[in-house]
Amino acid sequence: DYALYRAKKNNPGTAQLYGAEHESEIWRTRKIEQGFYASDFASQISVHFQPVVSVETNRILACEALARWDHPSLGSLSPEVFIGVAERCGFIEKLTEILFKKALAHAELWPKDIRLSFNLSAKNVGSLQYASRLAGLIRESGFDPARIDFEITETAMIRDFDMVLTVIFALKKIGARISLDDFGTGFSSLKYLHNIPLDKIKIDRSFVTGIQKGTTGYGIVKSLIKLSRDMGIGCIIEGVETEDEFKVVRNLGASMVQGYYCYKPMPAEQARERLNSQKSTAMANFG
Ligand code: C2E
Ligand code: MG
Ligand code: MG
Ligand code: MG
Repeated sequence: DYALYRAKKNNPGTAQLYGAEHESEIWRTRKIEQGFYASDFASQISVHFQPVVSVETNRILACEALARWDHPSLGSLSPEVFIGVAERCGFIEKLTEILFKKALAHAELWPKDIRLSFNLSAKNVGSLQYASRLAGLIRESGFDPARIDFEITETAMIRDFDMVLTVIFALKKIGARISLDDFGTGFSSLKYLHNIPLDKIKIDRSFVTGIQKGTTGYGIVKSLIKLSRDMGIGCIIEGVETEDEFKVVRNLGASMVQGYYCYKPMPAEQARERLNSQKSTAMANFG
C-alpha cells in the first residue's frame, strides 16, 4: 500500500522496520490525543509571537500567534504535528478557542497600532457557527476586531469553497481582515485571489529560501509582489532568514517581511517588551 511504499522509498532497505515504526507512530498520536484532555492542558499550551516588519521603516506592524506545546512526556512538539492530530481527533475547535483567547489576552496589552495575526485551521472555517464563536471571543475580550488578521491556507478552500467563502464574509463583516497563508503551496491560487475578498497574501518561505536573481523563486516573488500591488492587497514575504534574502526582496519592492532575519517567534512577554520599546525608541536597523 501507499504508506508502505513511502516507508520503503524514504528508508530503502529498512522496510522490515515499517511495522514497528508504524506502531510507535500510532502510540505517539495516542499520547498527543490524551494530552489534549489532561485537566491542565490549557496551562501547558501557549502562544509565541513572531513580528511582521515594515521594510521601509523596520518597524513591527503586527505579530503572528504561533502555538507552542510542551507535552509532559513527549517534550516540545511542533504545531505542524499537534494541530494535525487535533484536526483529526475533533479537538481543533476547542484548541483554537484556547489559543485565540490567549492570543487576544496578550494582544490587549500591546500598543494600539499593532495588529494581531492568528492562524485558523481548515476545519475552523468549515461552519458559520464557529465563525460566530470566534466573533464572540473577540467581543468578550474587548479587542478591536479591525486589528485582527485571520490567516487561512489555500488547503482550507478545497474542502467546501462556498462555506469557506461564507465564513470569510462573516469574519470580514465584524471588521477582521483575511490573509492567505503559505501562498503558492496550495491549489489553483488564482481562483482564490479572484473570488475571495482577501486583504493580504503571505508568500511561502519555499520561494524565498536562497532567493537571488536568476532563481525561479526570484521570478515568482517578483511577480507576486506586482500581482498583489495591482490587486490593491497587502503582501508579506515569509521566511526571510538572511541579510542577502532581505536585500533581494527589498530590492524587489517588498513592503512587509517576516522571518528569522528580523525576529524569531518569541514568548509573549518578550514580544510585549519589544513592542513597548518600539513606541519610544529609534527603530531597529535591518539590512
Ligand atoms: P505558518 O502559519 O506558515 O507559520 C510560519 C512558520 O514558519 C512558523 O513555524 C515559524 O516559526 C516559521 N518561520 C518563521 N520565520 C522563519 C524563517 O525565517 N525560517 C524558518 N525556517 N522558519 C520560519 P511554526 O511555529 O513551527 O508553525 C508551523 C505551522 O503550524 C504554521 O505555519 C501554521 O500553519 C501552524 N500553526 C502554528 N500555530 C498555529 C495555531 O495557533 N493554529 C493553527 N491552526 N495553526 C498553527
Ligand atoms: Mg501563518
Ligand atoms: Mg505561512
Ligand atoms: Mg506554514
